[in-house]
Amino acid sequence: MTDIPGVSIGIRTADCLPLLIADPGTGAAAAVHCGWRSLALGLAGKALGTLAEITGTGPSGLVAVLGPSIGPCHYEVGQDVRRAFGAGPGSDPAFETRGGRLFLDLGAVVKAQLLEGGMDPGDIEEVVGCTVCNRELFWSYRAGDEEERMVSFITARGNRGRAGA
Ligand SMILES: [Zn+2]
Repeated sequence: MTDIPGVSIGIRTADCLPLLIADPGTGAAAAVHCGWRSLALGLAGKALGTLAEITGTGPSGLVAVLGPSIGPCHYEVGQDVRRAFGAGPGSDPAFETRGGRLFLDLGAVVKAQLLEGGMDPGDIEEVVGCTVCNRELFWSYRAGDEEERMVSFITARGNRGRAGA
């Protein structure tokens, strides 16, 4: 997270979900690497809560975008992942069993945590498209891209007390 005007922060992913959150009021921003381990600990909701708290804006004043990640069409996980989520926020609708195999929807978990954290649905945008299904657009670790990563970044805007900086 940063509120230093002009400073960009980003994360590198290839299947995990990059979450960017911004406070249009103060210009502060957060970049959050959402994999299953961090989401099982509620990271998306906690990042939202922290940004809302330090800016004083409150979650309903923030905006977020979910970057490209591996979709529920391809993200097969083990029962250990299901157990790690327990009954945590967003876990129930995020798991689907097909043909005896378990799949996880990272985006559904992130959205559920953001909504539970107090965001308005209309303030959450999403880059649609699974990283495995769209190899021409994205890198995917699971599909064999071991070294390559995508970078999702956001730049804090210095508009405290003035418009449009
Ligand atoms: Zn897919």
